[in-house]
Amino acid sequence: MNDLSLKQDDPRSTAFPAGQAGGILTIDLAALIANWRLLRDRAAPAECAAVVKADAYGLGIAPAVRALAKAGCRTFFVAHLSEGVAARAAVPGATIYVLNGLLPGTAPAYRDAGLRPILGSLEEIVEWGGFCRNAGRRLPAAIHFDTGMNRLGLRPEEAQEIAASADLADFEPALVMSHFVSSEEPDNPINARQIEAFGGVRTAFAHAPASLCNSSGIFLAEKPHLDLVRPGYALYGGNPTPGGANPMRPVVRLEAPIIQLRTAEDGETVGYNAQWTARGRRRLATIPVGYADGYPRAASATEAKREARRDAGAAIVRGRRCPFAGRVSMDLLAIDVTEVPEGAVGRGDLVTLIGDDLTIDEVGRRADTIGYEVLTSLGRRYARRYVGGET
Ligand SMILES: *Cc1c(COP(=O)(O)O)cnc(C)c1O
Repeated sequence: MNDLSLKQDDPRSTAFPAGQAGGILTIDLAALIANWRLLRDRAAPAECAAVVKADAYGLGIAPAVRALAKAGCRTFFVAHLSEGVAARAAVPGATIYVLNGLLPGTAPAYRDAGLRPILGSLEEIVEWGGFCRNAGRRLPAAIHFDTGMNRLGLRPEEAQEIAASADLADFEPALVMSHFVSSEEPDNPINARQIEAFGGVRTAFAHAPASLCNSSGIFLAEKPHLDLVRPGYALYGGNPTPGGANPMRPVVRLEAPIIQLRTAEDGETVGYNAQWTARGRRRLATIPVGYADGYPRAASATEAKREARRDAGAAIVRGRRCPFAGRVSMDLLAIDVTEVPEGAVGRGDLVTLIGDDLTIDEVGRRADTIGYEVLTSLGRRYARRYVGGET
């Protein structure tokens, strides 16, 4: 448990020793690869890509894409052009799509980095087509059709007309795609409506590979895997089937050392705004993690949350689930360790904030958010250790 002298034995890890940081974040690249293989096998014969936007959901884009490419992943999706450039530097040979598509004037940057824009409007199609015509090269791009999100993408009714348009002859439509609204709810009728609407798009673009599934989509009974699936969250250990057991392996572990053990007497309060009051004598452990590390302040243990009977944040201390006490501060939070036998826990001991059976899904729920936000907020000042996989 007392593991602050950890060797920084992997060159991808942070340079400073764990004892100099607040939280210690361990990223298991072997688990990431195992998760990708599970999804690949489930979606086969469809190709399994990997969504690595937002710094691979907070895990670090370069180590993540290198590990996945080594395992056989050939296609990656990022949100921004800048993320695509970062991914390209790490995996020179891979196919990389940029979900947010073509901002005006960015076509040369796509060509230079060998990235594929996902075109979501007629203006983008015209701009990419014109750029390819001038360049004299039919560069590849994807076309995004909207089947329910109403954020990006063309309408399925436009598919026939677009498939026949002159601009399309100037570039290579390498993929047509759409995105599920609620695939984590298998019984939601919107899934079937989206699958059907996308069927019309596939008919219009009979020669282009098609893609519809995010993580949860891969597990739908309809198996709408088509030619390529695009998991993100499940790769990083999130549960793609929230109603049932999680088939994925945890990838992220977050620990922090106890910097002080103290006692609050009956009636004393803990933290900013005195939002938590000791009922009886309570033993508290203070740890150096807070909202500046991306740990959600909404996980604070406040009177309001107690009255609403909603769970606040928790940590695992010596194998026991212990609730937070009071507000999550910028750099600190307090844990009520009264249930841990006195003497079993000491200064410098590590507590678990994510890991063991405290999953990213549960951490999200306890903070009134989703595990996706927990991952993508993981702090920059944690000591990071990458384990598993090859360097
Ligand atoms: C983020 C994203 C994904 C991955 O979704 P997960 O639920 O994380 O698997 C797939 N497709 C699109 C268009 C996305 O924006």
